[in-house]
Amino acid sequence: MNSVPRSPECDDVSRSTGLSRRGLLAAGATAAAALALPAATACARPPSPSAAGTDRAVTTPPPAMSVHLIGTGGPEMSTGRQGMSTLVDAGGQRLLFDVGRGATQNLYESRINPKDVTQIFLTHLHNDHYEGLPTLWLNPWFLLGRTENLQLWGPHGTADMVAGMRMMYAHDLDHRANDTLRVQYLDIDVTQIEPGVVYERAGVVVTAFPVEHRDGNPAFGYRVDHAGRSVLLSGDTIYHENVVEHGRGVDVLIHNVLAFSDELTASGRWEFLEEKLATPEQAAAVFLEANPRVAVYSHIAKKGLHGEAGDRRILERTRAAGYDGELHMGVDRMTIEVDDRITVAPPASTHGLPELDSGDVELDHG
Ligand SMILES: [Zn+2]
Repeated sequence: MNSVPRSPECDDVSRSTGLSRRGLLAAGATAAAALALPAATACARPPSPSAAGTDRAVTTPPPAMSVHLIGTGGPEMSTGRQGMSTLVDAGGQRLLFDVGRGATQNLYESRINPKDVTQIFLTHLHNDHYEGLPTLWLNPWFLLGRTENLQLWGPHGTADMVAGMRMMYAHDLDHRANDTLRVQYLDIDVTQIEPGVVYERAGVVVTAFPVEHRDGNPAFGYRVDHAGRSVLLSGDTIYHENVVEHGRGVDVLIHNVLAFSDELTASGRWEFLEEKLATPEQAAAVFLEANPRVAVYSHIAKKGLHGEAGDRRILERTRAAGYDGELHMGVDRMTIEVDDRITVAPPASTHGLPELDSGDVELDHG
C-alpha cells in the first residue's frame, strides 16, 4: 500500500515480500485487493526457502511470535471481515484473544486446527467478542476428538456467562456425550482476571490492563511477551493511557478503530459510540506516544465507509493526525511474524485445504 512508508533497512519491497506476494498470488487477489492489503511489508525477511513454498520448518526456525488476525471486524456485517479474534502463537503456545463470529472457520482457513486452540482470553463480555465460543467449545470436541478442556480468562462475569452457555447447550451435554465423547472434556477452567500478569508459562507472559469501553466495562487490553518480543492488543477502548503505557516500544501494537462517513459524523447519530471505541485520531495519538515497531488496526468498526475506500479513509485520517510509522489495516487471516524482522503477510490461499471432517486430518500449518 502506497501510504505505508518503508524503514531504511527494508529497501526492496519486491524482493523482501516473497511470502506476501506468494499469498497474494495464490489467493488470486485482484489488483484492487492488493492495494488494500499490506503487500508492502516494510520489514520482511530476506528471501528464504519459505518464500518458494518449500518446507520452512526444516530450514528456518519459527519466529519468536506469530500473530494471526483471525477476525478483524466490528459488530457490523461484512463479506470480508468476521468478528474479532486474534491468535498469538508464542513459542508454540497458541493463545486466542476473543472469539468473535466465524473464529473457528477462520482458524481452520488459517490452517490452525481448532482442536489445538484451548487457551482463550476475553477482553470483555460484549457478544461480538465471544459469540464464536460455543462453536470452538463444541465442534472440536464431537468432530475432532478434542479431549483437552478449554481454559478461559476473562473479566468478572465470565463464569456466569459460561454457566449460561452450558445451560443453552444442555441438550448436547446431556445427550451427545458418551463414553468416547466424555462430557468432562467440556469442562471449562475459568479464571476471572484482575489487572496484572494473568498467565505465565514456559517463558510466555500475558499481562492484562484495564481500558475504557463504557457499557462494555470491565474491559481489558492484553500484552503478550515472549523471547524478548512483545505484542499488545488494545481491546475495545477509546484512547487510553494504559495502552500507551503497556504499548511503549512493543513490536506490534494492535488497536481497534471506529470511523463514520462525513454525513454520519455530521448527523451525530452514532456519536455515542465514540465513548466506546477509538477514532483514527485517537489511535494515531496512541501510536505516536507508544511508538511500536508496527501498528495494526483490527476490530475495524465502520459506518458509511464501505469497502476498501472506507479502509483507506481510516488510514488517511491516521496519517493526517501525524502518525507516519508502519501501519497496516488488518484483514482476516493476515499474519504477522515477529522477530528481529517483522513480516506482515496477507491471507494465504485456501487452495487445497482439506475438509476438516475428523480428527485425522492434518492441516499442515505454514
Ligand atoms: Zn467489540
